Amino acid sequence: MATPGGPRPGSIPPNYNPNSVSDNMKNLQINRPNQPPNPANAPRGPPPSLGQQPQSQSQPFSSPFSVPNRPGPPPPGVVPRGVVPPSSGPTPHGTLPPFMVANRPVGAGGPPGGNASLASRPMPPVPVPSTSGPGPFASTPSPTPPPVMPVGSGAMNNGPPMFGPPHGTPGGPQYPSSGVRPSAPTRPPPPPPQTMSSFLGGSFDNQPRGPPQVAPPTFSAPLRAGMQPSSGPPTFSSQAQPQGPPFGAQPWQMQSQQNVPPPSIPCSGQPPRMYGMSPPLANQQSMATISPATGPSGNAVSGPSKIDPNQIPRPVPSSSVLLHETRQGNQANPPPPATSEFIVRDTGNCSPRYMRSTINQIPCTAYLLNTSGMQLALLVQPLALPHPSEEPIQIVDFGEGGPVRCSRCKGYINPFMKFVDQGKRFICNFCGFTDETPREYQCNLGPDGRRRDADERPELCRGTVEFVATKEFLVREPMPAVFFFLIDVSMNALQTGAVAGACSAISRVVADLPEGPRTMVGIATFDSTIQFYNLKRAFQQPLMLIVPDIEDVYTPLQTDVIVQLSECRQHLDLLLESIPTMFQNNKTADSAFGAGVKAAFLAMKSTGGKLLVFQSVLPSVGIAALSGREAEGRTNIYVGDKTMAIEFAEYQVSVDVFITTQSYVDIASISVIPKMTGGQIYYYHPFSARSDPAKLYNDLRWNVTRPQGFEAVMRVRCSQGLQVQEYSGNFCKRIPTDVDLPAVDCDKSIMVSLKHDDKLQDGTECSFQCALLYTSVYGQRRIRVSTLSLPCTPTLSNLFRSADLDTQFSCFLKQAANEIPFTPLLAVRDRVTELCISILHSYRKYCATVSSSGQLILPEALKLLPLYTLALTKSIGLRSDGHVDDRSFWINYVTPLSVQLAIPLVYPRMISLHDLHTRETEGSVIPPPIPLSIEHVSDDGIYLLENGEDCLIYVGDSVDPDITQKLFGISSVGEIHSQFVLEQYDNPLSKKLNEVLNEIRSQRCNYLGLKLCKKGDPSGMSFFSYMVEDKSQNGLSYVEFLVHVHRQIQSKMT
Ligand SMILES: [Zn+2]
Repeated sequence: MATPGGPRPGSIPPNYNPNSVSDNMKNLQINRPNQPPNPANAPRGPPPSLGQQPQSQSQPFSSPFSVPNRPGPPPPGVVPRGVVPPSSGPTPHGTLPPFMVANRPVGAGGPPGGNASLASRPMPPVPVPSTSGPGPFASTPSPTPPPVMPVGSGAMNNGPPMFGPPHGTPGGPQYPSSGVRPSAPTRPPPPPPQTMSSFLGGSFDNQPRGPPQVAPPTFSAPLRAGMQPSSGPPTFSSQAQPQGPPFGAQPWQMQSQQNVPPPSIPCSGQPPRMYGMSPPLANQQSMATISPATGPSGNAVSGPSKIDPNQIPRPVPSSSVLLHETRQGNQANPPPPATSEFIVRDTGNCSPRYMRSTINQIPCTAYLLNTSGMQLALLVQPLALPHPSEEPIQIVDFGEGGPVRCSRCKGYINPFMKFVDQGKRFICNFCGFTDETPREYQCNLGPDGRRRDADERPELCRGTVEFVATKEFLVREPMPAVFFFLIDVSMNALQTGAVAGACSAISRVVADLPEGPRTMVGIATFDSTIQFYNLKRAFQQPLMLIVPDIEDVYTPLQTDVIVQLSECRQHLDLLLESIPTMFQNNKTADSAFGAGVKAAFLAMKSTGGKLLVFQSVLPSVGIAALSGREAEGRTNIYVGDKTMAIEFAEYQVSVDVFITTQSYVDIASISVIPKMTGGQIYYYHPFSARSDPAKLYNDLRWNVTRPQGFEAVMRVRCSQGLQVQEYSGNFCKRIPTDVDLPAVDCDKSIMVSLKHDDKLQDGTECSFQCALLYTSVYGQRRIRVSTLSLPCTPTLSNLFRSADLDTQFSCFLKQAANEIPFTPLLAVRDRVTELCISILHSYRKYCATVSSSGQLILPEALKLLPLYTLALTKSIGLRSDGHVDDRSFWINYVTPLSVQLAIPLVYPRMISLHDLHTRETEGSVIPPPIPLSIEHVSDDGIYLLENGEDCLIYVGDSVDPDITQKLFGISSVGEIHSQFVLEQYDNPLSKKLNEVLNEIRSQRCNYLGLKLCKKGDPSGMSFFSYMVEDKSQNGLSYVEFLVHVHRQIQSKMT
């Protein structure tokens, strides 16, 4: 029997360690050199630039089930042309074949198990990748940026991270022996089954709370110090700020005395302990000042001439890997910038990968927060990929009683709950309630007031743990892992090679799925009708089943449409092989996308699962047909009927759509279902049969093999005085307090905006807890709980000093994206700029000590805010000249975007390539970034620009032909092909470029699409549109913008 609260007895669960899933990263072949296409696959279409050979090694999914003789082409004669019975017409799916089942499917009545939202189904019993024990430093290579160690040689490779114990992370046993603890929990019987919401929720919302105070503006401001402290240019002086800004401690303390004190947690003078209060940090304030062209009278001069563009704030990439302890000396330790590389040691607060706050000190009052112009929000990414050198998350099994929770607010036990009365009671750090400690969980307190066993129990000393969910959290048996592929085979899709690309990608990815009985697959195609395929083994060939009714859809032969993978691998392969030829003469241009999705959903309804759709044209017929919105001149974004999406979410069906198109498809409308089911949109436009299949394959592969969970529910709790105002991300929300996630993965982040409903007391801490109940891909029901405790402050300057630029800007970005559908773009841009100005004005007015009005004064932590704000106003989403679909895709990309990818999206990284071979590597394979200005782009240079999603390579028009020959195999710029596939040639320069690109793909966990750009054509214009520091039709130059900001601040001051 498990010890309550203890680690699982014996050893790690036989088949699951949350971190081991990150080994899946090995599945992402993002950093492999180009491989020759597999000849056996040749008929499948253009060779992807990434071969699949490394696949079979060390994949959690496939290794045990390795598929040595996966398919080559089918034996001659076996591939049936017409997978269709002879009775059908000239086109394979022209008529309803006699075997078609016309009756409606049964069993599609209600959510399985009575409460689908609580249901749990697991993925296949998958052999776990070598769980190499809880060694703190796993040595598995991962796609996370390989550590960049200042290794002398400077040579980098794709090998395992060079981190090791020398780095000082303790490697002690993580599972203390359980001998000291009482063995048999004698807890009362579990409460009656509850609904999902009550597990995460509980009655906290019933607590009396103070009347809501003035809510911060929904669109308040951003920021924090993203980049390094200025190693900066002379104009910037980092100053220590004197103690008494207008918002000093005095007056505010008086106010705070009126507060009802939060649960008292005495702390004076005791040794460090988790629940202790940290004294306010030293009140030092650094700031950057800049003198933008001021005249003698202090007025800003119009011309930017006096500002040296080389001395204005720009991101400075960190060159070394930081080791971050989440708490030090009993104080929360502000996290490193999200965009830097760091290794986290969880010493009480959760890793910033899982949860970050826009400000690392919490303002005591709403008034203080509003005065700052900033906003208070969390970005949570509950399944974020850890760094390979970080300790694994520990799994805690409380046995039948389940994890200890506050009986009032249902908050989970965490390091900040304070035990009192010899450990017999504990005080909740969220609602302040004093609760009885379950008898079997009691433990004496030491002289420091902590439980004596605190360091042995992960839930009492770690910011993140995973609890084994008890039966109460289950409503039905874990579901099988269902992957349903739905492919558009209308004429356009065929002709552009999209069908071949999709079939090839699916076929290869299926090879990576586990063979176990829990893995189920299904496949369907659609044009103006829907074609299912019976994959049962009994048939020699896959049998096509046509659903002609696209207005009132049903699913044929439900039980044979989704089949165990082990029963149909071969058939599936043949089918995927033959689909492109089966439909090659298809003249149907219409696409019944909505009907196809609905029919597939009906087939999956009884289990839930992942629906992966490949779509190539505007849905034109059947359910949810769309019109050419753009053609009609409408530019606003669709916010359509969500009924279908809500139904999908209820049955735990998550939808991802891979859009491989040449034209407008109305992404705004298509994205409604993916967004609300925890899925996402992939966009390949214009789809190229030559250069896109490799990305399509890698995207699909990462989609199905990355760390993820199913049928999840998430809730964030916070201490009294604050409450969650709103969640934003890809999910479905049916009750106000929780978000439903049919699927959730390591890449998805959710923004949680907070508001005050009372005052917080100076000297206390405020806690936040994110609880994610989910089913792992290995079929276990788990509750991942991350807790963050931050100090409260009554001092405005503390807010600025502890502002988190990356997080603030991410929230900024997401809010702008949320507004686009409802607000004119110009207004969104103005709003974004105004928010930036408000924050800087507040700082200038209340915190800055420099009296000269001629200086623009930026808080050190937020000195890049103006640059990022300017870049945001010029981004694809906010530009007026963008295409509707591009903008809609941008919105969809931004909504679940992680903090570390938000910055490069608006301020991409540009590096030079022509001099790669002459450059000495200094720790990193990737050369230092260049400011995004045309001044830094030379006609005889070659540059790479990447934003985490796309990668552009610009070739100047007078580049040395020898270099283009070496890099691209072409002798002049004129030969550049837009559908470009990078190859590796046998010379150092080419090898270097491939290394750099692999490193970037690895850092971004994304197989970035690659485009070659040249001057004077649309590709070149596309490249230059990223030069956000330059003046353009889309806005001011960076220098002009600083002047503008400065003037606005000055006018507010007077
Ligand atoms: Zn509570």
